[in-house]
Amino acid sequence: MTGAVDAGAPGDGSAEPEPVEAEPVSRDAALIMERCDELATLSSNPEHLERLHLSREHAAANALVGEWMRQAGLSTWQDAAGNQCARLEGSSPDLPALLLGSHIDTVPDAGRYDGMLGVLLAIAVAGRIHSSGRALPFALEVVAFSDEEGTRFGTALLGSRALAGAWDDALFELTDADGITLFEAMQDFGLDPARLPGAARRRESLVGYLEAHIEQGPILEDLGKSLAAVTSIAGARRFSLTMTGKAGHAGGTPFEKRRDALVGASELVVAVEALSREYGTIGTVGRLQAFPGGVNVIPGRVDFSLDLRAEHDADRDTCLRRIRETAEDICARRGLSFESTEIYTAPAVRCDPGLRAAIESGIRSTGDAAPVAFHSRAGHDGVAISSVTDFAMLFIRCAGGISHHPDESVIEADVAVALDAFEAAVWAVAAGYTG
Ligand SMILES: [Zn+2]
Repeated sequence: MTGAVDAGAPGDGSAEPEPVEAEPVSRDAALIMERCDELATLSSNPEHLERLHLSREHAAANALVGEWMRQAGLSTWQDAAGNQCARLEGSSPDLPALLLGSHIDTVPDAGRYDGMLGVLLAIAVAGRIHSSGRALPFALEVVAFSDEEGTRFGTALLGSRALAGAWDDALFELTDADGITLFEAMQDFGLDPARLPGAARRRESLVGYLEAHIEQGPILEDLGKSLAAVTSIAGARRFSLTMTGKAGHAGGTPFEKRRDALVGASELVVAVEALSREYGTIGTVGRLQAFPGGVNVIPGRVDFSLDLRAEHDADRDTCLRRIRETAEDICARRGLSFESTEIYTAPAVRCDPGLRAAIESGIRSTGDAAPVAFHSRAGHDGVAISSVTDFAMLFIRCAGGISHHPDESVIEADVAVALDAFEAAVWAVAAGYTG
């Protein structure tokens, strides 16, 4: 595949510039890498990358991404949920749209490719198709989802749920660490919560959704491959847990009289790992806080989190049942009580076979005759989007499988081949499209 995203030629000031035609593919990839670096500067924290839903940095990222979308020849808008959107018409106006995209929010102390790379690949593909002069039999839209990670409000996929029409007004009451509700945050961002239903898309207006994303795992690196197709996304459930005992003087309270919530919670954390291994589940306690938090005070209460995910929902739910039974045992033995509140749930979702075949055909077009396919352990916007249209995903190798960490990295050559594969996948969808 040839072509280039619309952008001025980079002037590096070298005395003997290479002919521009020599490496058109890597020039597109180099631009994507530069743009990942530029987006990574839009952070609320000067020390590391952190860009939260409906923050000032989110607004700046939408503006920058919107500018790149327009440079690629697309018309742009920000939808009622804060998603930055763009559209390239097909062979006639108002055709249903194939969506390409990913998210532009981050976790705290994030890497610069999770989400952003997928948005930039989508813009580059749309730019190539625009400059090719060949019309698709459907419209192409690019979406930079406003919230996938759930960092600010503790609930993920807010942007894609709004677009899928899977919104629940109870979500407006969610609060961030400063006590600001989602309703208030939307108003502060310049959005009208009453108009949020306007972000929802009708099934008939969509052809499907394709997302390119870093793998966030080590499989591709172990296989020595750049790309993979995704078969399904593991279903995840998340809980806020509280174990309560009784605070007391560390010196004056003998062991047999203690109701130490932190020792009980610690037992449960260790059990989460053991039970997860036993039941084919990935279980993680990522956050834990003891109260009152004095060095000489027995912890009377512990708040902690639980994230459970598996390829099959039944395995995950069996694991959860065993974790709850174990918590009850611990509490009975130690005189503690236990509460659990489910804060997020998503079933495992399968990629559409037809769209997945288009992704695999795109990978084959780059010279990999036997593309691999495996399931995603991480959640993605496709989970929410699957309630309104079919979806499929392209995975890109990342170094060491590291993600949600500043060491997250990809190589430019993989980005170049991903761009070619993703563009070819769009043309493969077009070739099989019957309207
Ligand atoms: Zn992501």
